[in-house]
Amino acid sequence: MRLALSLICTFVLCGCPQAPDQRSLAEAVADLQQQALQDETAWRLLESLTSEVGPRMAGSVADARAVAWAVEKMNDLGFDRVWLEPVDFPLWVRDSESGRVLSPEGFELDLTALGGTPGTGGTLRGDVVHFESLASLEAAEPGSLGGKIAFISAAMRRDQGAAGYSETVPQRSRGPFVAARKGASALLIRSIGTDTRNSAPHAGNVSSLEPGESLPAAALSNASADRLVELLQGEGPVAVELELDVGYRGRASSHNVIGEFTGASGSGEFVLIGGHLDSWDLGSGAHDDGAGVAITLAAAKLVADQAPRPARGIRVVLFANEEQGVHGGKAYAAAHANELSLHVLGSESDLGAGRIYEFRTRVNEAAEPDIAELAELLAPLGIPHGTDALASGGADIGEMRKIGLPVIDLRHDASQYFDLHHTRNDTLDTVDPADLKFNVAAYVTLLQWAASSDTSFGPIEPSE
Ligand SMILES: [Zn+2]
Repeated sequence: MRLALSLICTFVLCGCPQAPDQRSLAEAVADLQQQALQDETAWRLLESLTSEVGPRMAGSVADARAVAWAVEKMNDLGFDRVWLEPVDFPLWVRDSESGRVLSPEGFELDLTALGGTPGTGGTLRGDVVHFESLASLEAAEPGSLGGKIAFISAAMRRDQGAAGYSETVPQRSRGPFVAARKGASALLIRSIGTDTRNSAPHAGNVSSLEPGESLPAAALSNASADRLVELLQGEGPVAVELELDVGYRGRASSHNVIGEFTGASGSGEFVLIGGHLDSWDLGSGAHDDGAGVAITLAAAKLVADQAPRPARGIRVVLFANEEQGVHGGKAYAAAHANELSLHVLGSESDLGAGRIYEFRTRVNEAAEPDIAELAELLAPLGIPHGTDALASGGADIGEMRKIGLPVIDLRHDASQYFDLHHTRNDTLDTVDPADLKFNVAAYVTLLQWAASSDTSFGPIEPSE
C-alpha cells in the first residue's frame, strides 16, 4: 500500500517516532475482521428494520417509515453527515389478489400479481394456453391467443451465483408484454424462484424497457404451477378465474438516504457502498435487501471507528425503490454524475444474507496489483477472486458503473436465496446471524483496503 509506505517514510525523514497506531494494512484488516465476526450491529439493525418497519413497498406509508428509520440509525451510528435526496416514481399498489382453477376441477391458486401490471377490473375468466418457455410464447402468431390466458411454465434452476435467475427472469419481466401482443387477456407464469416446499409465489416487477402495453399477470407458486401443468396434460380445456385488484395509482416519492463518514485526508474522496431500502410487500425484506442495508451500515461503522481513520471517506447509500425499476439508483447517478471522480470505488450488497464466496472486479488495469493485495486480505475468509465475469456494482450502484465508476462485487452465495427472495418467507428467522457477521467481515476488508489506499481504481469504460 503506497500510502502506508509514504507515511512511514515521512516519519523517518522528520525524525518523529512512528505513531503507535501506524499498523500495517494487513494488521488493521485482521483486527477489523475479528471485530466484525463478534459484532452484533448488523443483526440488531436487521432485527429492528424487519420488526419495527416491516415490509416497505416503494411509495407506501411503511416506505416513509423506513426512510425515517434509516436517518435515525445513521445518526445513532455516528455518521458525520446524513441527508436525504428525493426520488419520484409511479405508484404501484396491490390491494387484493386471488385466482382459481374452475374446471376440470376446482382449486385455489397460490399467486401474486406482477409489479407494474394492471388489474383485471373485476373477475376475468378464460381458458389457459400452455407454453413451456417465453421463446415458445414469442413464436406464437400475433393476436392468435384470442382472449385466452397464457401460461409460461419454465422453471428456474438453482445455482450459487444468480445465473439461473437471470436466465429465467425474462419470463416475468417481458412475458406480460409478449402475451399482450399475442392477444391474450392475462398471463400466468411459474414463479422465478426455487422454493418447492412452501407454495409461496414470488413477486417481482415487469421491465420498464419493453415497448407496448402489458396485461394482468401473476406468478404461481411452484406447487400451483405443477398442478396446472398436470391438468393441461389432460384432454379438455382448463378454465381459470382471476381477480387482481392492482395497478398504478398516480405518482409517489421517497428518498435515497445517504450517510457519510469523512476520511482523514480531507480530499473529499470516498468509497461508495450500500443496498436498497425498499422491499416487496409479501415478506419483511430480511434478505432483500435488509441484509445489504445492515451489512454495509455495520461495516462502515467498524472501519470509521478506528483511530486514526483511513484517508478516504465511506459513503453508505440506502437506495429508494430498487424493486420497481431502480429509481433510486438512477436518481443517485443523475444527481452525482458531476462528482464521479470523488467516488473511488462502488460495491452494493443486494443478493441476500448468504455467505460471500468470491469477489469480482471491474477496475482499470493499473489497479491490478492492488486487486492481488485485496485477494490476500480476503484469503483468511476463504473468498477468492472470481474471474468468470466482471463486477456489475449491483442494481443501484451499477447506474454509477454505467458512467465509469470502478466497482467490486462481494458475491453472496445465492443457492438458498431464491427460495425466499420476493416471497412471504423472506423474514428474519431465515437469516443466519453468523452469516451476517461473516459478510460484515468481508465488507470491512474491502473498505479498509480501498479507503486507506491512494490508488485510482478507475477510470473504467462506461458500459451498459
Ligand atoms: Zn434486492
